[in-house]
Amino acid sequence: PAAVSVLASSSKTAEHRLVDHGRIINLDHGDPTMYEKFWQGTGDRATIVIPGWQSTSYFSDPGNLCWFLEPELGRQIVRLHGIVGNAVTDGRHIVVGTGSTQLFLAVLYALCPQNVTDPVSVVSMAPFYSSYPTTTDCLRSGLYRWAGDAASFDGGDGPFVELVTSPNNPDGFLRDPVVNRSGGVLVHDFAYYWPQYTAMTSPPADHDITLFTVSKSTGHAGIRIGWALVKDADVARKMTKFIELNSIGVSKDSQLRAAKIMKVVSDAEEEGSNQGDAPPAAAHSLFEFGFENMEERWRLLREAVKQSGLFSLPDYPAQFCNFNRRSFGNQPAFAWLKCEGEIEDCEGFFREKKILTRSGVHFGDSPKYVRISMLDRDDNYLAFIKRLRSL
Ligand code: PMP
Repeated sequence: PAAVSVLASSSKTAEHRLVDHGRIINLDHGDPTMYEKFWQGTGDRATIVIPGWQSTSYFSDPGNLCWFLEPELGRQIVRLHGIVGNAVTDGRHIVVGTGSTQLFLAVLYALCPQNVTDPVSVVSMAPFYSSYPTTTDCLRSGLYRWAGDAASFDGGDGPFVELVTSPNNPDGFLRDPVVNRSGGVLVHDFAYYWPQYTAMTSPPADHDITLFTVSKSTGHAGIRIGWALVKDADVARKMTKFIELNSIGVSKDSQLRAAKIMKVVSDAEEEGSNQGDAPPAAAHSLFEFGFENMEERWRLLREAVKQSGLFSLPDYPAQFCNFNRRSFGNQPAFAWLKCEGEIEDCEGFFREKKILTRSGVHFGDSPKYVRISMLDRDDNYLAFIKRLRSL
């Protein structure tokens, strides 16, 4: 199958082929299945074969602080950040996790002292990623607890952890910390800090603790690999300890797959950049594929929203991207859509139209908002646009 999914050229025919029997269109989860098409187009380049004798040991690199990190994955992480220019890796420890979700818990464990009487407050500015409160409080830890919106946080002078998600899930904006006092530690969640979603500006991000994942970068949510770039060796050691206590490491098979996938992405970018100034073709470059799809999906959505007169969407200022040498505004992985006028329950409104979205209330915001995944397969996304146009 062709790897290039430029909806601009295919949307009309694809739309005619779609028979919409009023089926349920589920855009509630952020499942990144849009990327399946790209990877189908790469043939065997990203395939790996793992013989039966491999991975009998728990250990991957016993001499390394993160002893379960596969060295090849560590190398490919450093290489990819170097090519994209989104984060400094020099002087950082890499801790691998079962998705960045496990790393999030590992960070909380590492940052919150064992001997506290009051749990450390965990905050993020609303609207925040809906998993932060539920993941933080799922075991009712005595070490930390969810304390809500960072913008209105009043935790006295107690310690806190502020999660800075940039671009943000759900609203797609770039963010800086908002709690204006000392005594806190920042954790940057950069799941979406990749050039298909936002411009890579210089210098590369240089934070103390930054979380990344293959889920939204290459689209491999199902292999469950994330990584943290951590400046402080002690924090990295405690995060490693948490993962040891939690799952005695991270699947080697998944790490090897992630390493191979990242290698294929980086190889294509390097080959493309050797061939001149023009962006590499979307058939070869994952980031170009992602960029063109996001651009087209956002164009279709904005058009349908404008035509309906019922909704509004955020506007994102254009910035120059050092990676793909274009100026563009964010094209987020989620649409943060507001029902205008009298519709109070936006999720309920869409549910009646058999479109499943996630209400703003899950993100600490108003039910007039919904979050809609922009990363689903072409047929589902186009069915959504078609139904939106018919409202
Ligand atoms: N952080 C943010 C902001 C996310 O949106 C997601 C995925 N929805 C994650 C973390 C979790 O990613 P992973 O699949 O790596 O656990």
